[in-house]
Amino acid sequence: MNKPEKPSQEKLQGDVAGPSARHKTTQVMVGKVAVGGGAPIVVQSMTNTDTADIEGTIAQVAALSRAGSEMVRITVDREEAAAAVPHIRDGLRKLGITTPLIGDFHYIGHKLLADYPACAEALDKYRINPGNVGFKNKRDTQFADIIEIANKYDKPVRIGANWGSLDQELLTKLMDENTASPDPRDARAVTREAMVQSALLSAARAQELGMPKNKMILSAKVSAVQDLIAVYQELARRSDYAIHLGLTEAGMGSKGIVASSAALGILLQGGIGDTIRISLTPEPGGDRTLEVQVAQELLQTMGFRTFVPLVAACPGCGRTTSTTFQELARSIQDFIREEMPGWKTQYPGVEELNVAVMGCIVNGPGESKHANIGISLPGTGEAPAAPVFVDGKKFRTLRGPGIAADFKALVIDYIDQRYGAGAKAPVTAAE
Ligand code: SF4
Repeated sequence: MNKPEKPSQEKLQGDVAGPSARHKTTQVMVGKVAVGGGAPIVVQSMTNTDTADIEGTIAQVAALSRAGSEMVRITVDREEAAAAVPHIRDGLRKLGITTPLIGDFHYIGHKLLADYPACAEALDKYRINPGNVGFKNKRDTQFADIIEIANKYDKPVRIGANWGSLDQELLTKLMDENTASPDPRDARAVTREAMVQSALLSAARAQELGMPKNKMILSAKVSAVQDLIAVYQELARRSDYAIHLGLTEAGMGSKGIVASSAALGILLQGGIGDTIRISLTPEPGGDRTLEVQVAQELLQTMGFRTFVPLVAACPGCGRTTSTTFQELARSIQDFIREEMPGWKTQYPGVEELNVAVMGCIVNGPGESKHANIGISLPGTGEAPAAPVFVDGKKFRTLRGPGIAADFKALVIDYIDQRYGAGAKAPVTAAE
């Protein structure tokens, strides 16, 4: 039998790379929010209310905004919706919400924007889909109409190509050229190319119509992860427009979260993406704000931004005797999310807090020491005691049925002492 090869020192050593440098893009201001040009990656979302339902849309935009959405898109699909937009903007302002509003236009956007100037003025950005802005000879004029209105009101646009509504004339042209080529590529590669070209040709056309580059954000959304990665990598390679990332029709629940995170994670790691939206289909009666939470968690777990304190929890295994640690992890996480809107102003920097909730002694103390505050609950056969670690040092041992409540109180004390107005000193206490 051959002896296994001993790894050489060369193979054992090397640079352990982090994320690539951010792809350089032209910064675009959407209301007061900067997108691209090195600005922090912006989280955005979209309502699923009927925009003509003014109260319902205000409530959902407010919920998305409070959850952390830094821009919110609303559908503007018909006259009633266009007429509602300025009232929605005004209603939000009365609630103190200034989150930029983006109008999503398809087919008749040019007409709605022209007929409802108050809508055109109230929105902070218009989203145009080059695949359905009009057809044949009307396409160019209707696209031009929207760009002219955007220029008139000094609004940026997102030129958002979409696989499901790809410009069919462009696709047919590229397919015909491919068929005639001596070395034809497969149809999927041609469709990817059409996606990239659709976005870039429309952006070039907008520039010819007088729209500067710092008023344009591009997207090219696809529902298949590999296609999305390929299309965006190419879009970034060929241009320096600010880029909106999103996997379209990602789906429900874990499928949507996994697919979006896989695709966007790879692109973000490669330095691509200035604003992201996670397009989740909510469960019936589900909470629309989940897509905001997922977007924030994706950016935070990858180290690009911090939004809320992170709770690290072990998955549990046969060493755990009960669901206590799962319940504690869930309750701490929910507690932090609920309290964050108030904490943000009361405790600057609290979003960088790390909390660990671990199930037993194997990894509990080690992981807890890496957190700002962590607890290691007793596993099977362990003494019924839960050591708490603060800033890497053993702080106290909790015992008895009130462990969860006691730990929560310690978290609050830690936050107050570490981030509160009066005290910045590290927390110290004896066993
Ligand atoms: S810390 Fe303990 S309970 Fe948690 S997964 Fe590891 S061994 Fe299991």
